[in-house]
Amino acid sequence: MNLAILPRRGYVQHPTPIEACPAFSRALGNKVNIFIKRDDLLPGCAGGNKTRKLDFSMADAVAHKADTIITCGAVQSNHCRLTLAWAVKEGLDCHLVLEERVSGSYKPEASGNNFLFNLLGVKSITVVPGGSDMPGEMEKLAARLRANGRTPYIIPGGASNAIGATGYVACAQEILQQLFEMGLPIHHMVVPSGSAGTHAGIAVGMVGNNAGIPVSGINVSRTKTDQEQLVRKLARATADHVGMKGTFPDDAVTCFDGYVGPGYSLPTDSMVEAVKLLARTEGILLDPVYSGKAMAGLIDLVRSGYFTEGANVLFLHTGGSPALYAYLETFR
Ligand SMILES: *Cc1c(COP(=O)(O)O)cnc(C)c1O
Repeated sequence: MNLAILPRRGYVQHPTPIEACPAFSRALGNKVNIFIKRDDLLPGCAGGNKTRKLDFSMADAVAHKADTIITCGAVQSNHCRLTLAWAVKEGLDCHLVLEERVSGSYKPEASGNNFLFNLLGVKSITVVPGGSDMPGEMEKLAARLRANGRTPYIIPGGASNAIGATGYVACAQEILQQLFEMGLPIHHMVVPSGSAGTHAGIAVGMVGNNAGIPVSGINVSRTKTDQEQLVRKLARATADHVGMKGTFPDDAVTCFDGYVGPGYSLPTDSMVEAVKLLARTEGILLDPVYSGKAMAGLIDLVRSGYFTEGANVLFLHTGGSPALYAYLETFR
């Protein structure tokens, strides 16, 4: 893979830290050594994984001479916050289409990312019911903007297409270089698996570098079968995009669906436990929708003996802590 030939904007200038978590590992009985890749510390307003994807997606928007970005997400979408923030930085207008996946959950006065949409100067917010055809809704908005002389560019939900997922192929390469410099062998990696670009990109990067590090995805909404299908499809497209044509094996994708609870964005006891435990042992904030549920998955996998005793396990922290401020009651 030669990612240098693919256009990007250069949003990621330095590797994010890989931190040991001795107190957190001790709280889980020292069965494994947990390390965290701090992608919550990426540049871009309040950080998080979408910056790596947008580095490539925005380069494509600029190549298409766009003056306006359209994207979509849930009502507290981190992806929408970061797309908007990078659009501001690029001098582009940004319109958001929000899917009310839990009916009645959109509140114009809500805190968290919703507050930031307005603070960052979003051009418009269109709220549509859960289950809407999001690409269709964004295309309708694009047609209206074109009729007004604008040149819109649509970034799919989570920037999860082959272009965006390339950001996480690059992250896998960054991780391998860091582990080499640290002299740290990692035996297993755990990542949140949502719109799938993060999981697919990491899996492609690990396979493409013959890293031999298995990657487990923790679902935040779908069933195991549906999510694995989604990740594999995107991983194959991403592998093609980065020059690994037809070489991505199905068995490089494993998902766990036991930590979703009642549904996407709905709190679970194990998520609350995970968020509190990491905050109180390492001073690191997770989020209630993605990294909190993913960490709940990691905690359960440690307790149930899924990992070999003494293994070094790397958790990808994808960010999202601004959403905590929309969940105050859950943590009281
Ligand atoms: C979007 C998001 C994820 C999931 O990443 P995908 O690439 O959509 O699977 C995980 N954590 C946070 C904080 C996110 O905002």
